[in-house]
Amino acid sequence: GACIGILGGGQLGRMLAVAASRLGLKTHIFEPGANPPAGHVAHQVTTASYEDDAALRRFAQSVDVITYEFENIPTSALDILEQIRPIHPGRRALAISQDRLSEKEFLTGLGLKVAPYANVTTAAEAEAAAQSIGTPSILKTRRMGYDGKGQIRLKDASDMAEAWQAMQGAPSVLEGFINFSHEVSVIAARASDGQVACYDLGENVHREGILHSTTVPASLSAAQRMDAVLLAGQILNALDYVGVMGVELFVTADGLIVNEIAPRVHNSGHWTQNGCDICQFEQHIRAVAGWPLGDGSRHSDIRMENLIGADMDRVPELRKTNAALHLYGKSEVKPGRKMGHVNFRT
Ligand code: ATP
Ligand code: MG
Ligand code: MG
Repeated sequence: GACIGILGGGQLGRMLAVAASRLGLKTHIFEPGANPPAGHVAHQVTTASYEDDAALRRFAQSVDVITYEFENIPTSALDILEQIRPIHPGRRALAISQDRLSEKEFLTGLGLKVAPYANVTTAAEAEAAAQSIGTPSILKTRRMGYDGKGQIRLKDASDMAEAWQAMQGAPSVLEGFINFSHEVSVIAARASDGQVACYDLGENVHREGILHSTTVPASLSAAQRMDAVLLAGQILNALDYVGVMGVELFVTADGLIVNEIAPRVHNSGHWTQNGCDICQFEQHIRAVAGWPLGDGSRHSDIRMENLIGADMDRVPELRKTNAALHLYGKSEVKPGRKMGHVNFRT
């Protein structure tokens, strides 16, 4: 049978491998870290660094197509892999979403609204940005940030000097603080023939920069839903995208503002595992494998809650209920670490 190569062996890679397996496809995980969550369910695992060119070549040659569970794949690794097998979603989606500045320029270029922003690469630019963007605002590292890491909130322009120091010279953007009423996301999929499908929008609540819960349906007007689906389609089409993408949105009185895009399956799409016949993981595998998309319509209302760190203490009680538990098989509980999630039918 065909084999899907997956870069990254975390929980997203694990759930992609489970979905692929159900479709009769094999998976081969490439992961630098030892004992990855996806390793328990994949058919093959390569433990090697992204600097190991020979390992990358062997991995690519052993699979039919390559996808990934995280967007921070080094360019040098992509250069090697791309020569051997197709990578979906493609290079441009990766390059754009790896850098908050290029992401914002791309979205603005499509005519979409983003938070006011300024590029910050020097102390002088930092001071200028604090003046032009004003406060409250958030200084965010352009690369490698996730779960709110690499972000510093400014209450006053005088906070900038210290914030920029803390960034240790990392290229950053200063973002104006958006006074949103709530946050929602679109989980959108595009097949290789250009077919696009979006899941119902989920309403997201973050705690300390980490996604805490997603609730479907989200509280949105029909017009807002239409806007969200259209802008997601616009983004996917502009990138000639193949696979699932998460589009995070701020809902404001002046319309939808795009926070960021993730060129992969997304935590805020985990509700689809118990709210739809075809979940985001199967949808992604279908797209990447060149299959038609499945029917992602929602058959149930769901509230997804992440189990982070000590939330694992809830598991014995949750086991006794009808809630759908999804545990990632991580041996070590750490504060802030995503250990699993649970889908409640509401
Ligand atoms: P992820 O794990 O989703 O990739 P991240 O580290 O990339 O997270 P962001 O999505 O940029 O972080 O920000 C995390 C959260 O912080 C947002 O979901 C939102 O709640 C809040 N936030 C970020 N930017 C802004 C902004 N400009 N205005 C108001 N709130 C913001
Ligand atoms: Mg992010
Ligand atoms: Mg985010």
